Amino acid sequence: MSDTLHHHIGGKKVAGASGRFGDVTNPATGEVARKVPLASAEEVREAIQIAAKAQKGWAAVTPQNRARVMYRFKALLEEHLEELASLASQEHGKTLSDAKGSVQRGIEVVEFACGIAQMLKGEFSENVGTGVDTISTRYPLGVVAGITPFNFPAMVPMWMFPVAIACGNAFILKPSEKVPSCSLRLAELLEEAGAPAGVLNVVNGDKVAVDTLLTDPGIAAISFVGSTPIAEYVYQTGTANGKRVQALGGAKNHMIVMPDADIDQAVDALMGAAFGSAGERCMAVSVAVAIGDKVGDALVGKLKPKVESLKIGPWNDPDADMGPLVTRAHYEKVKGYIDAGVAEGAELVVDGRGFSLQGYEDGNFLGGSIFDRVTPDMKIYKEEIFGPVLSIVRADDYETALNLVNDHEFGNGTAIFTRDGDAARDFTSRVQAGMVGVNVPIPVPVAFHSFGGWKRSLFGDHHMHGAEGVRFYTKLKAVTQRWPGGIRQGAEFVMPVLK
Ligand code: NAD
Repeated sequence: MSDTLHHHIGGKKVAGASGRFGDVTNPATGEVARKVPLASAEEVREAIQIAAKAQKGWAAVTPQNRARVMYRFKALLEEHLEELASLASQEHGKTLSDAKGSVQRGIEVVEFACGIAQMLKGEFSENVGTGVDTISTRYPLGVVAGITPFNFPAMVPMWMFPVAIACGNAFILKPSEKVPSCSLRLAELLEEAGAPAGVLNVVNGDKVAVDTLLTDPGIAAISFVGSTPIAEYVYQTGTANGKRVQALGGAKNHMIVMPDADIDQAVDALMGAAFGSAGERCMAVSVAVAIGDKVGDALVGKLKPKVESLKIGPWNDPDADMGPLVTRAHYEKVKGYIDAGVAEGAELVVDGRGFSLQGYEDGNFLGGSIFDRVTPDMKIYKEEIFGPVLSIVRADDYETALNLVNDHEFGNGTAIFTRDGDAARDFTSRVQAGMVGVNVPIPVPVAFHSFGGWKRSLFGDHHMHGAEGVRFYTKLKAVTQRWPGGIRQGAEFVMPVLK
């Protein structure tokens, strides 16, 4: 791979022309691994025009033939799974086994997109009036764009473009400038699978590229995944410019541990959900709510030695449980939250700040940390940390715990660990969050269901992938037709009703 990356536009590698570049670093060493071009507004506009031309032909391809491209794409993705996962790991820092799982979850969205003909079948009603039939059909929107975060370099782009493209749209993907390589490779593989040039374009960039996508009239819809302030900005700017927008934001996912829960199962779940991928997951559990001090003491007692013995290493260490944080700036931010928690009076049970890995002293490695007796007024409770830091809140009863989840600004995912079916049912029904787990710590819906949060974790009306994805990337047309066959009723001046 060359040291300087490119854009992928109209089926070609296109060198950046803006003269602006970003650094893509190796999180384990802190070294700059490659440079990524940051597109100018003009480069983005050119890509939109190329996509618009490609989209016309692509929309005319039958859904079944678009699905066949997706079948071939799926096979290629499986063939290249290891390569894609290592690109994701090298730029993000997560372990290879974790990255492989996330690429697989992306492939599952492609599998869903293989069934697009079924999803686009539409609805038909015969005889809505005498001799009158109605057909409702979905049409692609045109050129749509996706703007993605650093934490899932392959999976989050694949939440979006396979569904959008299978629906007959062309796509402009603006990946995170911290992890651009996977997206470029995905575009090459989709074309190898038979997608015409210009149907999937990857434009690398920063705010300049995003702002152009948000304002250019050639973009019909925007899918965004990232932090809440940017999600809100993308939603407001995109919709003000007449676009359909789904903007998924940050999270603070609570896991309630009831007194009757299997504590060992809850502890294992918390270890994976809080510290997997160094906590850089929007569905990471960052708050454990213990019901009663007995549960709180048991959780702290069992978690402490496990967190202290977490295996932390570079992406290609097969024994590592987690890797470094994505950038130095993010490392400093997460460390700053631990400092803030101490200053606010939370009990720091395990302190990851002193962790250093021999041979990787300049890497962004932070050990796992646990805070006990965190209270809702603390900054570490209110804000998303997005690192390997677990806060334990002690609540007297279930109702208090439920209110905590419901009063929080974010509502992405949440979970309850219990053996009590009544409590679980009450929780799933009353909790204000988009994705809910019962004895499942990270309840990420499978590809044929849809992913999305509530409250300030999602701006817009549609969740991603599954049936919601198809609705988002299509517009509905209802055709009402009469084949008179001799029926003559003369001019009607009143509102027609069913006869
Ligand atoms: P981010 O908001 O910094 O960046 C996301 C995208 O927005 C990137 O492509 C970036 O280039 C662009 N961007 C950044 N600043 C911008 C600006 N000022 N104007 C226009 N565009 C801008 O997010 P991140 O740090 O890459 O990712 C981490 C965040 O993403 C976390 O908050 C995490 O919870 C969230 N996330 C959410 C989900 C979800 O499904 N809800 C999934 C994954 C990640």
